[in-house]
Amino acid sequence: MNDLKIRENEEKNAVLGGVLYLVGTPIGNMADISERAIKVLGEVDFIAAEDTRVSGLMLARLGIKKPLINYFEHNKKEKGDEIAARLLGGESCALVTDAGMPAISDPGADMVSLCAEKGIPVSVIPGPCAAVTALALSGLDTRKFVFEGFLPMPNKQRKEALIDIKTEKKTMIIYEAPHRLKRTLDELLANLGDRKIALCRELTKLNEEVIRTSLSGAVKLYEEKDPRGEYVLVIEGANDKTDNFWLDMSVEEHVEYYLTLGMSKNDAMKAAAKDRGVGKSEIYAQIMKKD
Ligand code: SAM
Repeated sequence: MNDLKIRENEEKNAVLGGVLYLVGTPIGNMADISERAIKVLGEVDFIAAEDTRVSGLMLARLGIKKPLINYFEHNKKEKGDEIAARLLGGESCALVTDAGMPAISDPGADMVSLCAEKGIPVSVIPGPCAAVTALALSGLDTRKFVFEGFLPMPNKQRKEALIDIKTEKKTMIIYEAPHRLKRTLDELLANLGDRKIALCRELTKLNEEVIRTSLSGAVKLYEEKDPRGEYVLVIEGANDKTDNFWLDMSVEEHVEYYLTLGMSKNDAMKAAAKDRGVGKSEIYAQIMKKD
């Protein structure tokens, strides 16, 4: 690197007052913290953290002592205003979350938009992000993808989200907590039909694991054991194969397929009729002929 480049980089890495620094932190492996992240965390006036205990432990391991304030989902309005006021007053702030890139499935995005509104400069020190890390490991098509984050919990929104992603052609990335994994896999299988999935677990940690299977395979797997650790689900997008998985099936096999997913006979016939573009009565008549 020539002298000019080195100077430009040093200038870029200077920590300036009045700037919010989004600092990416490891998603499980402390060795993934970057040199720039350590520098910025060590030089800012204060650090806003999703959980001060979690970030306090990380800072202690790095030997960094800085004033820490909480900034999380339920105080983001008041704390956001307080942080913005301090930035406008000339202080520098690093925003960190429990793990990974701030603003990805955590309240960091609101802080960035508040800064944008108030004309406060924001700079980024990128770090690992569970979504992209999982996608890279998934073995699925990485050219086009959508990040769904956590599926919504309220029934109505959840149903809508599941209907929405059924026809999504791009590879989908979903975050999930272990205690909700079984339910989510069941719902994905029932709504999307069987397709490829990579369950990416405990990424960058000692027990890192990628299970490349199908949605029905995943459901079966967790009938036998309990999910443990943090998960990212990477799911194949809709394509001719996933849409027309039933083409080689007889009508009976098609209905049977939905029955094995836990649907009632009526719903299974409706689902098969919808796939085939015929009325339910036609499916019913076919089945009765055989019975
Ligand atoms: N901001 C973070 C990022 O950049 O990935 C994500 C925060 S979100 C609140 C937490 C979710 O990310 C977890 O429930 C899990 O789905 C996923 N996650 C975080 N770390 C992970 C890891 N090491 N392995 C697998 N999934 C992880």
